[in-house]
Amino acid sequence: MIQKTLKNFPYYFLALLLIISIIIFLNLNKENDLTIAFLNVGQGDAMFIETPSKNQILIDAGPDGKRVLREIKKIMPFFDKTIDLTVLSHPNKDHLAGFIDVLKRYEIRYSLSSGAKHTIAEFKEWEKLLNDEKIEKIQAKRGLRVHLDKNLYLDILAPIGKNEYKDLKSFTDSMVVARLVYGKTSFLFTGDMEEKNELQLLNLNTFVDSDVLKVAHHGSKYSSGENWLQAVSPIVGAIQVGKNNKYGHPTRETLSRLEKSGIKISRTDVDGTIILKSDGEKIY
Ligand SMILES: [Zn+2]
Repeated sequence: MIQKTLKNFPYYFLALLLIISIIIFLNLNKENDLTIAFLNVGQGDAMFIETPSKNQILIDAGPDGKRVLREIKKIMPFFDKTIDLTVLSHPNKDHLAGFIDVLKRYEIRYSLSSGAKHTIAEFKEWEKLLNDEKIEKIQAKRGLRVHLDKNLYLDILAPIGKNEYKDLKSFTDSMVVARLVYGKTSFLFTGDMEEKNELQLLNLNTFVDSDVLKVAHHGSKYSSGENWLQAVSPIVGAIQVGKNNKYGHPTRETLSRLEKSGIKISRTDVDGTIILKSDGEKIY
């Protein structure tokens, strides 16, 4: 008898393990939090957002399609093949190129951008895919609020003008800047905006105060001025940047301004993909 119990022991053990796994899985499914991931895509921006009801938003897609898909797959449920909204901050390659593979792989419902055009081949391919797949286009403009879930919305703070930025070669003036609000928590997405754009928004008395700041332009010294950091007053500054990039990002100047303002710095080149969650009350 004793011998038989011992012989069966590994099976009891397996059964116990299985029960534990199921409970963990159910717990995960009950989760009601917002997820914000600053994806590690090298030198470029890509931010993946999943709402409590499992709607997905991708803000920029980095320079490399394979890399952004690999990062998305780590977070997104494997059976979900739809990204509800994509946002393009501006059409430079390090923000745009990854979208081509994303558009081929996932069903996209809406695409929000400034309408600024680029001459690179990737831009033409991106535009063609948007048209071929009949993705609904949303023109980004200041004052637009996109509701993403209950108590969750994205406010477009810039571009400031109407359509006059459409064909500008300089993309900083048509940069899509957006503030995501979930309950009492908030996140600010800045693309590659420069200090002159920051001051423009402050001069318009824009409410920019946020818990988390996507540090603009990969930590360039021409962005993240003192006035801006004071107005946003984030707890965390997330920098999306490639290891040993040729631009010297993030710059010493910006890092020291962030440190002086008491902002906790997270960097994708050091920390890898940065995942934050919010329950609407606090961020962890
Ligand atoms: Zn960039």
